[in-house]
Amino acid sequence: KKRNMHETEFLQAAREVLDSLRPVFFKHPEYLDEGILERITEPDRVFTFRVTWEDDAGRVRVNRGFRVQFNNSIGPYKGGIRFHPSVNISIMKFLGFEQIFKNALTGMPIGGGKGGSDFDPKGKSDREIMRFVQSFITELSKYIGPDTDVPAGDIGVGKREIGYMFGQYKRLKSKFDAGVLTGKDPEQGGSLGRKEATGYGLVYFVDEMLKGKGDSFAGKKVVVSGSGNVAIYAMEKAIQLGATVIGCSDSSGYIYDPSGIDLEVVKQLKEYSNKRIKDYTMDHPRAVYKEGCIGIWTIPCDIALPCATQNELDEESAKILLENGVTAVAEGANMPSTEEAVHVFHTGGVLFGPGKAANAGGVAVSAMEMSQNSMRLSWTAEEVDEKLKLVMKNIYTSANEAAINYDYPGNLVVGANIAGFLKVADAMVAHGIH
Ligand code: NDP
Repeated sequence: KKRNMHETEFLQAAREVLDSLRPVFFKHPEYLDEGILERITEPDRVFTFRVTWEDDAGRVRVNRGFRVQFNNSIGPYKGGIRFHPSVNISIMKFLGFEQIFKNALTGMPIGGGKGGSDFDPKGKSDREIMRFVQSFITELSKYIGPDTDVPAGDIGVGKREIGYMFGQYKRLKSKFDAGVLTGKDPEQGGSLGRKEATGYGLVYFVDEMLKGKGDSFAGKKVVVSGSGNVAIYAMEKAIQLGATVIGCSDSSGYIYDPSGIDLEVVKQLKEYSNKRIKDYTMDHPRAVYKEGCIGIWTIPCDIALPCATQNELDEESAKILLENGVTAVAEGANMPSTEEAVHVFHTGGVLFGPGKAANAGGVAVSAMEMSQNSMRLSWTAEEVDEKLKLVMKNIYTSANEAAINYDYPGNLVVGANIAGFLKVADAMVAHGIH
């Protein structure tokens, strides 16, 4: 704690995992003897670097770039790149740490990492984005490779940015290493189904949670925060499974449409253009728009899916959801619920799916992209979707069983942390102390 004193998000993520692991250390003190705890919480290495670029007015601008290579015990470092002004070392480390366990849960051979920059893509021209990205990857290219470290997209980084990264990497290395980055356009070596994977995977995971109680999405009222990549495809799959999505948001405010959100309008506003969610009311004047994001949790619903950003659902919001009768909450975003909120859900008997299990569908399909690149072939969208469903079912089963085996039945936070940890810890033991 002393060593990472100012890294609040990282400490929050580490505390959650370490608390869950108590029963493991009690049963298997050998992990403590091997120093696994100390070793797993310290990244293998962290890079920070200057990213210099020129804006359209010819001014020289400087941002900071990051890459955290946290743990490669079960495979090459793997984790997204985030471009957002809030990016700092604490956020990078919390995301990289979570990624170790999430990636292990997928059952695929991928280690944990994360990267990004405090660059704000909002309001930048396409050429500015390209110049920034080329400068960013020029430095990052020294540390990555298809068998070393495989970055992907995250907030502010989509297929356009990945395309620019790949182009510059190819130019620097003079070779076509398709597997060095995932999240590529399917026309350019990306996997079909990647765009939808995190949102669809989240809903498949919740479906498994509901099945465990003999229930389903049919007829449920669902609220989804955010309106980005994860949120849009979570809404799409929930609607396909018979639910009505009645609320979503962006970083300015939220909309409430009791008759059911018109997803095509949301896609037009947020996926195909750069508009605000507020503009939804122009097409649907009976929908309500309110400023401020946190208010979305006051909308009464059966299922809540936070899909925007970290710590967006606090204790107060959790209590309101509970009072309004929510029965299931699952995290599409990384750590969107505060520790206090998770406590409210657990004590209130709400089914709760933690992000590192529930949102692992994206990275699972990224690992499938790596496989397809290695084999130089591509699977159909249906094949990818079938594999995704199976991965999400397996994640649910292993988290649920670990929770039962370690005397926390129904607690998927504990179960996911334990199941992910055991896989990585066993590999670390097998590889010796270093
Ligand atoms: P996007 O950038 O596509 O979308 C983020 C969305 O959240 C935007 O609609 C943004 O609004 C909104 N938002 C940001 N802050 C807030 C806030 N405080 N309250 C409400 N809405 C807010 O990101 P993704 O959808 O890709 O990622 C969302 C989360 O999911 C992140 O935590 C990410 O790490 C996680 N995740 C993503 C994966 C993926 O495959 N994309 C995989 C696993 C996890 P605005 O439009 O105003 O910016």
